[in-house]
Amino acid sequence: MVERDKLLDVQGLKTYFETDRGVVKAVDDISYHVKEGETVGIVGESGCGKSVTALSIMNLVQGPRGRVAGGKIMYTTKGGERVEITALPPYSPKMRAIRGSEISMIFQEPMTALNPVYTIGEQIAETVCLHQKVSKKKGRERAIEMLELVGIAAPSRRINEYPHQLSGGMRQRAMIGMALSCDPRFLIADEPTTALDVTIEAQILDLMLHLQEKLGMAMQFITHDLGVISTMAKRVVVMYTGHVVEKASVDDIFYDPRHPYTKGLLASVPTLGRQERLVPIKGTVPNMNELPKGCYFSPRCQEAMDICHQEEPPSYQLEGDHIVKCWLWEQEGVRLP
Ligand code: SF4
Repeated sequence: MVERDKLLDVQGLKTYFETDRGVVKAVDDISYHVKEGETVGIVGESGCGKSVTALSIMNLVQGPRGRVAGGKIMYTTKGGERVEITALPPYSPKMRAIRGSEISMIFQEPMTALNPVYTIGEQIAETVCLHQKVSKKKGRERAIEMLELVGIAAPSRRINEYPHQLSGGMRQRAMIGMALSCDPRFLIADEPTTALDVTIEAQILDLMLHLQEKLGMAMQFITHDLGVISTMAKRVVVMYTGHVVEKASVDDIFYDPRHPYTKGLLASVPTLGRQERLVPIKGTVPNMNELPKGCYFSPRCQEAMDICHQEEPPSYQLEGDHIVKCWLWEQEGVRLP
């Protein structure tokens, strides 16, 4: 019953990379799901595994260096078929049909994601022609329609411009247009506004919320900005060094955070009218080749106990769907397998 509701179901996913200094466990045994039409926020500092999770869903982690080493990603298609994405070869016809058409992605930096030698119109039209099997003329018409939808003025003229002729905000809008051109049911937005100034960021976030409502799609919104998450997401997954350390509703994360890392992230968010000083999390994310013993957050944690430096903490279920991976909840939480 619950399963059918889940558009995307990530179960114990492990994505590892072979490096000259050993195996890097960029994503290590994470589980979460996204229901139809909802937005789930994935937060954490750079290097916590957020983008690798997204690339795993797109089935774009390729050998010989990168591989999905365990777990699975299940996706329910438009036709109701449950597909195990992690079992499909990356360039199989089935995966190609899902990628871009059912699941789409907005990348962080449009200048590197858009092809500089093709006009934005050609790039959007190509996606449409490939996935919807329509003529070039129809593809071009759809490209104009998408540029209009994302608020680009004079779309029939702009369609002939190259990425370098557009401003940063315009390029990001064009990329959103391209990602949405085939009416995806699930959109992964990987830090889509990080490179933009705040006024453009507000416009783009507004646009995405509006389009989500209009198209009824689900979103996985990746960011290190908790302010953005509070506007966009209903549920939040907090990641640290490839692990999910806390997941809960957006209200629980903001008003009742339980993991010291989540508390640290919230304490370092600047807000208007805030009287007290910002408290940054001390230290930095550890090198993935030299992870500390026990809890990977222990060298930075203000509440670390002896056991934290010895043993990795299990995950505990607290009230409702609130889950936290921290020894502090050994007494009150229900230990998960
Ligand atoms: Fe801090 Fe220990 Fe919890 Fe890790 S397990 S977050 S070190 S209290």
